[in-house]
Amino acid sequence: MLALDLLTPSLPLLVPPETFDGFGWAVSTTLTWRCPLGAPALNALDDQLPLGMAFVLRAPWESIPTELAWLHVGRARAATLGLTDQLALAPYAIDDATDLLFAEKRPPAETFWLAADNANALYWALHDWSHFHNHGEFTDRPSTELQCDAAALAWLWINRANIGLPDALWEDYRRDALANHLALRETMPETRCPPPQVLSDAGELRRLAERLVG
Ligand SMILES: [Zn+2]
Repeated sequence: MLALDLLTPSLPLLVPPETFDGFGWAVSTTLTWRCPLGAPALNALDDQLPLGMAFVLRAPWESIPTELAWLHVGRARAATLGLTDQLALAPYAIDDATDLLFAEKRPPAETFWLAADNANALYWALHDWSHFHNHGEFTDRPSTELQCDAAALAWLWINRANIGLPDALWEDYRRDALANHLALRETMPETRCPPPQVLSDAGELRRLAERLVG
């Protein structure tokens, strides 16, 4: 098993301010991650469920949709992590969590820890972690998602040595995230989202990540 507090320092705002009504309402510092393997599986970027991850609740929370955590990490891997009947955020309820954390002013790090056994799940968990700290109405999805994709990639870059994430796989994720972003923009030509240079320029993204940890 691997247990790490991933560094998740807040990013600067990269998109128009009206994208968020609660940008940085909770200060992001770390995400506690437990991996049932000695290292995460190194797989391709893919947003299709199941992702093999669970945001496990640290304490009961009545208002959020939940499911048994082990259903999402598998019985054997859950046992490795000491998970029995613990509840996790339902995978379909990421947007609900984004709204309810903000509405109830629950700091995400005091609410969830992450169980995940693969690098793709880590990407999406970190993407969601950005949503959880930056509330928006999802009215301009390309802008909302650009901020979260940049955060996920910056945080993976900062933590890559501890995660065991090869630079080449990070680069694959960056290219795939850019392709996803460009496809999303095509569905919303009226977006106010700036050109996604933060995703298209690997050097700029790495420098942004390195500035976050000084
Ligand atoms: Zn998102």
